[in-house]
Amino acid sequence: MLKIQEYRPESFIDFTQADNVAAYQAALKKVRAELVGKHYPLIIDGVRVDTAEKLESINPCDTSEIVGSTAKATVDDAQKALDGAWKAFESWKKWTPDARARILLKASALLKARRLEACALMSIEVGKNYAEADVEVAEAIDFLEYYARTAMKYSGFGAADTTWYEGEENGLMFMPIGVGVSISPWNFPCAIYLGMLAAPIVAGNCVIAKPAEDSGLIAGFVTDIMLEAGLPAGVLQFLPGVGEEVGEYLTTHAKTRFITFTGSRGVGLHINEVAAKVQPTQKWIKKVILELGGKDGMIVDETADIETAVTAAVQGAFGFNGQKCSAMSRLIVVDSVYEEVVGQFVERAGKLRVGTGEDNANVTAVVNEESFEKIGKYIGIGKGEAKLLLGGETPGEHGGKRGYYVQPTIFGDVPADARIAQEEIFGPVISVIRARDWDHALDIANTTEYGLTGGVCSRDRARLEQARHEFEAGNLYFNRKITGAIVGVQPFGGYNMSGTDSKAGGPDYLANFMQLKTVTERW
Ligand code: NAD
Repeated sequence: MLKIQEYRPESFIDFTQADNVAAYQAALKKVRAELVGKHYPLIIDGVRVDTAEKLESINPCDTSEIVGSTAKATVDDAQKALDGAWKAFESWKKWTPDARARILLKASALLKARRLEACALMSIEVGKNYAEADVEVAEAIDFLEYYARTAMKYSGFGAADTTWYEGEENGLMFMPIGVGVSISPWNFPCAIYLGMLAAPIVAGNCVIAKPAEDSGLIAGFVTDIMLEAGLPAGVLQFLPGVGEEVGEYLTTHAKTRFITFTGSRGVGLHINEVAAKVQPTQKWIKKVILELGGKDGMIVDETADIETAVTAAVQGAFGFNGQKCSAMSRLIVVDSVYEEVVGQFVERAGKLRVGTGEDNANVTAVVNEESFEKIGKYIGIGKGEAKLLLGGETPGEHGGKRGYYVQPTIFGDVPADARIAQEEIFGPVISVIRARDWDHALDIANTTEYGLTGGVCSRDRARLEQARHEFEAGNLYFNRKITGAIVGVQPFGGYNMSGTDSKAGGPDYLANFMQLKTVTERW
């Protein structure tokens, strides 16, 4: 067993302190000097392999800048990665859980030492401001620390309880399942990417990690850290590439044992379908873990503390420009306090500073052209469905630089069944919905097909207890923002079309990547 202190989440850096801001700016300089312009090849069986084509990362806040590039894997590369990973599995599965966990702890120490570099890289590659980037790297460190510790509980024969039976020894063993593919999104390109590969690996599996096309550099950065920490060759294969090509190849492949996917509802459901089809020579039913989108609502009732509710709404709606699966995109306000709450919400949102991640703006550019176009289209739809209260423009430039800039946008009196109130926009566009009373508000909250996060701002104890049971959300928050789940503290995962509720950062997350064997010996 590991001899380490009990898990405690990382604390966040306080950017109201001038010396912390100065340290961040120094990290930005260092990253610009050392990492911007870098190219990350594939890593297959521990060997760096380049490809004829590459994927470029564009700075969303200044689209004239190419931040760097990764190789672009082909299906041949994917096949080699799969074959190599199965070879590596033969020895990796025999490592003890504590030996595997030590690699995560070493990686955590390395990432802690380079925390601000990882943050600064994300400010440039995906436009995170200082606090958003810092919270994410803290989460990545937490995943490593937390999964290293939870791996211990699956160790050895008898790790799970069975009932004693006369004349026999009976017990359960947790076993790794094999080689899987981990497919991640660009919006938490450090924490989700790392968490989704570290968990299966510490459980004894081998992983082919396919990062999102827009955020290959930060993925390459943390992959290097995992290898520097001592992962044997082939346990982690780094395979940046196009989802529809190598992603599709791997999710449909007979030799893929499990798929862990975080991304959009459309792609997730497609993977669910193709992975269910048994291929010739396939020996198992693939395990598929899907964490998908959200259309997350927060209710404010007439008993709420208005200041608390408005702060929660602004933070939950506009943190990282609303590009979080957990972002509050629907604010549901009870009629008697509607004008007051919405008035203050619009006023506070109107004061948010738009700019670059490097300048630590509150709202920065959205990630890429596709998102920019999609958000613009929804703003247009919203103008036909509801009353525009704030923003509504997509200037596409800031401070003389082209970038995917969208104004913080709020629509009021949005019908609960309007498209902007039902479909995931994934940008700084909020629908405010008026409810007659508490019961109506709770009904509205449960009208979407998603069920990821949700919130209630209320001082009525009975209502909070009712919401605790009836609000359909995997992560429910009372009297605070609905984003920012902390590893181990608020295990994360959604209901309904938001996913398989696997609860990343939860006590049983590693069991997703294991199978149980019961062994009986008669004396
Ligand atoms: P996306 O679905 O477009 O892409 C996610 C990943 O899937 C990428 O790596 C992409 O290359 C890959 N992919 C695309 N097509 C594929 C295919 N046919 N086969 C295999 N892989 C394929 O999502 P995105 O735009 O990167 O991320 C935003 C989405 O992710 C939003 O919907 C957001 O809500 C969701 N998200 C959910 C959570 C959660 O925990 N529930 C967390 C973060 C983001």
